[in-house]
Amino acid sequence: MKKRTLVTGGAGFLGSHLCEILLNTGNEVICVDNFFTGSKRNILNLINNPYFEVIRHDITFPLYFEVDEIFNLACPASPINYQIDPVQTTKTSVHGAINMLGLAKRLKIKILQASTSEVYGDPEINPQVEEYWGKVNPIGTRSCYDEGKRCAETLFFDYHRQNKLKIKVVRIFNTYGPNMQPNDGRVVSNLIVQSLKGNDITIYGDGSQTRSFCYVDDLIDGLIKMMNSDDKIIGPINLGNKEETTIKELAEMILKLTNSKSKIVYKPLPADDPKVRCPNTDKAKNILKWQAKISLEVGLKKTIEYFDNLLKGKEIYS
Ligand code: NAD
Ligand code: UDP
Repeated sequence: MKKRTLVTGGAGFLGSHLCEILLNTGNEVICVDNFFTGSKRNILNLINNPYFEVIRHDITFPLYFEVDEIFNLACPASPINYQIDPVQTTKTSVHGAINMLGLAKRLKIKILQASTSEVYGDPEINPQVEEYWGKVNPIGTRSCYDEGKRCAETLFFDYHRQNKLKIKVVRIFNTYGPNMQPNDGRVVSNLIVQSLKGNDITIYGDGSQTRSFCYVDDLIDGLIKMMNSDDKIIGPINLGNKEETTIKELAEMILKLTNSKSKIVYKPLPADDPKVRCPNTDKAKNILKWQAKISLEVGLKKTIEYFDNLLKGKEIYS
């Protein structure tokens, strides 16, 4: 019998890759999405698979059906998107978590939460270890996302303690790759699209802030390893690439790889933009036997090819 897996946010960037891998490895997949930031294009190649089902639904409302496990990914992830309707962003993390945890509790099944490095806020230690509690502004423009995700983690751990629910919490660090929306405002998609179009490259601040970029294939492998790990392993576990780079270095690399004549322009740094971010991934390595393998250059080349085809209106899926 095939395992039936629910993926919330399954039409989004990460969710669409996860649905594809789950289907390819013999699962039945139910993708629940309200299409706020996801798109049908991301799942076009899956739609004819009889074991794939798409349900348009907002997870801030309850949901009733029978599944064997849940990956809870629904939530806009890029700052410009999660700031469009901040109240809905918090509701998605908090009410959405309560609804999905309730479903998991009724069915007595495992549930994985896609948490984020944003729970560390603007961190005082670098790299970030899971034991670090973070430095988060509770009332800023990023708080709807950061605090929503922190509260979701609280809910997961309380359902675990109170109801013995089998939980899995991963903290995902900046991930990139095909199926990102060209206009979602995240740095990798922004800079690649700008370079390919020959527009100015926008660096916020002086570009000395750092991030660590993980290619999507590596990340999905980590999500699946976490879900399939022993029930005792509940996390939180950081998933990300340890290769730390400044935004300026990233911009220069993208300019080189796209052979672009675009010029760099500097714009104001958004409020509460973290100055550094890099995961300590020892737990993922020791417990899950997982580490990111794909270098930034290799991942960027694949991502550039995706956006190049998208901008030229070419069919993306073979
Ligand atoms: P995304 O915006 O591409 O995908 C999110 C998906 O959730 C979209 O398809 C969107 O339509 C859907 N969604 C949003 N609100 C919903 C709701 N109320 N009900 C149902 N569906 C809803 O983002 P992503 O990069 O694929 O991120 C997926 C998850 O991983 C998010 O929870 C995000 O917080 C987390 N994450 C991602 C990254 C990253 O770098 N990509 C980093 C840290 C954490
Ligand atoms: N950034 C940038 N230019 C852009 C978009 C983002 O310099 O066009 C910066 C942003 O200020 C941040 C970093 O790149 O310092 C990563 O931004 P992103 O929105 O991708 O993710 P997050 O801040 O959530 O890590």
